[in-house]
Amino acid sequence: MERLTPLFTSPSSPVPSPCLSRIVYCISTCMTSAITAEIKSRAKAAFIGLAIGDSLGAPVEFMTASEIRAEYGILQEIVGGGWLRLKPGQVTDDTEMSLCIARALAAGGGWDLKGIGDNFAAWLKSRPVDVGDTCRRGIRNYMLNGVMETPFNQWDAGNGAVMRMLPVALYTLGDDALLEKCAVEQARITHNHPFSDAACIFFGRLVHLAILGYSRNRIRRELEGLFSVSDNFRFDNYRGLATGYVVDTMQTVMHYFFRSRDFEECLVSTVNQGGDADTTGAIAGALAGAFYGMDEIPKRWIKRMDRRVIDEVSLLAEKLLTFSPLARGGLKAG
Ligand SMILES: [Mg+2]
Repeated sequence: MERLTPLFTSPSSPVPSPCLSRIVYCISTCMTSAITAEIKSRAKAAFIGLAIGDSLGAPVEFMTASEIRAEYGILQEIVGGGWLRLKPGQVTDDTEMSLCIARALAAGGGWDLKGIGDNFAAWLKSRPVDVGDTCRRGIRNYMLNGVMETPFNQWDAGNGAVMRMLPVALYTLGDDALLEKCAVEQARITHNHPFSDAACIFFGRLVHLAILGYSRNRIRRELEGLFSVSDNFRFDNYRGLATGYVVDTMQTVMHYFFRSRDFEECLVSTVNQGGDADTTGAIAGALAGAFYGMDEIPKRWIKRMDRRVIDEVSLLAEKLLTFSPLARGGLKAG
């Protein structure tokens, strides 16, 4: 009979076996090296990109592309104003709701849907500068009745759940199944519609691929899964609709992300389409930030932003990565 070498020493062994030492060394090395400096930079760029896209696009929210052209030529600076009368560099609900999720996860160190709901409730009570109707209804339903999953509603196919997905993508980096579960749970606090769910899941997957350094072509192929949910998401013949309907929002972001060659071009072309420009800007900014990384974000835009927001999203991006499955033990699905 073959004699097997034990993999682990018994607890009473005074000295770890060479085998165990190698395993411990390997595990600790894998855990620290899985999150590389590049991944950290891309994650930080994604959260900063979200805030910049929100702030760049908000002044032209609800304007048409031709109205923007008449007023700004091409809007390429963070100017403030608009119907919300924002200060230059001020962010809106897209960034604020993302912060609600990120803070809940960072504070708890784990998935905390109640913490997210509580942060949404506190945010709504703080009289935010802007709140979507579907988000307001869902949060009020949570506050008054403790409902964590709003019932299906055919009108819930707005972009309010996907606009706050970035922290969920960071927290679940390295595990597709966890991403799917967390994406849908956070979404359904306010939105319950298959198109919203699908957009949340697939946006999360695109962010994962971008942060991990995959190519534009690989990211494009991932979208086939979204098209299999509904052909409506296809953007080959983009008609320029940039409304708050999640299908229009995703088409707009994808159309400009795949046509542009750098972070700035992606965001400028997206927000100059108008419509729900703060949200298309925020989603494009998160994806482009993840794809292009910190070095590609124009410094003049970062300088124009609310410093406290930039500092907080930078810290939270790093913190969420430390809780991710990738940091804790490697990829579970590619
Ligand atoms: Mg907004």
